[in-house]
Amino acid sequence: MHEDIEKLLVLQERDRSIAHAEQEIAGLEHERVEVNSRSADAETAHEAAQQKAKELEARKNGLEVEVEAEQEKIRTYARQQMDTKDNDQYKALGRQQETCKETISDLETTEIEVLEEIDSHAEVSQAAKTELDEANAAKAKALGEIDERETNLKTKLEGLAVQRTESAGKVEASVLKQYDRLRARKGTNIVVGIEHGACGGCHMKLPESDVIEIKTGSKINYCPHCGRILYYTRDMVMESD
Ligand SMILES: [Zn+2]
Repeated sequence: MHEDIEKLLVLQERDRSIAHAEQEIAGLEHERVEVNSRSADAETAHEAAQQKAKELEARKNGLEVEVEAEQEKIRTYARQQMDTKDNDQYKALGRQQETCKETISDLETTEIEVLEEIDSHAEVSQAAKTELDEANAAKAKALGEIDERETNLKTKLEGLAVQRTESAGKVEASVLKQYDRLRARKGTNIVVGIEHGACGGCHMKLPESDVIEIKTGSKINYCPHCGRILYYTRDMVMESD
């Protein structure tokens, strides 16, 4: 094997580790979004529950005000009854008081229903509050862990960058230039073996003469189809079948 190939393989391994760490860091952003989304959902549900509690309370208060108004009417009619000397008017005022009492009875029935709804909604509100507290606690914990992983990955990347510079420095300049150009275009599978007489990167058949040349390892060979750097080791299958 050409000596630069061995150095390139080390370099490629470093680049793969770097790419992997960078991918992991990018993935952390997605995890943060997921963690935040549970909290945001819980916040929305909690706000809706609070809003409904307010509405129920307002309905209950409204009904009480209506009852109070009917009671006031009854008192007014009763006073008018005492003042009147007209028997028909006296009876009419009596009927009006009865109507008010019926209205009050209906209002109180409705109020009981609203009170029951307030009771059952209190459980919903409590559950929403519990979920919000749990989601926020989980969020704080998860975000802390994600931050820690990011810090570790960045430290790892710094170390890898130093190792990469070291490995790259050992490769002959023109070969390194070609490698870097390929890496920018094709990722981290650039120095590839040949198998069954084909390029391990693009899998296109290689000319017989190239295969023989690559086998000798006398110089750096590039795939005529994709430009990748080719090499051969004894455990590779050389036959074209
Ligand atoms: Zn190729």
